[in-house]
Amino acid sequence: MRLVLLGPPGAGKGTQAARLATELAVPAISTGDIFRANVSEGTELGREAQAFMDAGEYVPDTVTNAMVRDRLAADDARGGFLLDGYPRTTAQVAELDRMLDADGSSLDAVVELTVDTDEVVKRLAQRATEQHRSDDGEAVQRHRLEVYAAQTAPLVDVYAGRGLLRPVDGLGEVAEVTRRILAALGRG
Ligand code: AMP
Repeated sequence: MRLVLLGPPGAGKGTQAARLATELAVPAISTGDIFRANVSEGTELGREAQAFMDAGEYVPDTVTNAMVRDRLAADDARGGFLLDGYPRTTAQVAELDRMLDADGSSLDAVVELTVDTDEVVKRLAQRATEQHRSDDGEAVQRHRLEVYAAQTAPLVDVYAGRGLLRPVDGLGEVAEVTRRILAALGRG
């Protein structure tokens, strides 16, 4: 299965991605996690990404696309993958299309985790307390939601137009949301 997980910050993508990866036996590839790992290891990529992340901005497409291209070329992603947090811009959609076209594959589905804004704000506040992420301050959180609305929300229509979109209610118990996603994928 080749899947994309879409949804605003705080929708529970990371939590669900880890669970789905186990259920579907594909690697969960989180661009945010890869960037954070590079920041903490002090790599060149981490240095390039950090200022954007701390400001709640997207890392430039050229940097992000190159990183995903490398990651998808790894052996464990050949038979399928679950992308968490990529693509996030229409330019990234086009780039992912090119990567998949190049090896004759394509996406099977795009799961959109839906949650209302009040709930997302509550969850982000909780995560800020629990995880001490440097991009989880209140002003940055608000900005991340604005960036999502402007740059990533339009992807919902793009994938709906291709018949790939599977909207799933992200509100509820973690296990229940996983069950809904698997059902939406016909794996329930
Ligand atoms: P996440 O953990 O998915 O919320 O990502 C954390 C941060 O990493 C984002 O706010 C961006 O700064 C950066 N990031 C992650 N994925 C992408 C992407 N696909 N495009 C650009 N920036 C990204």
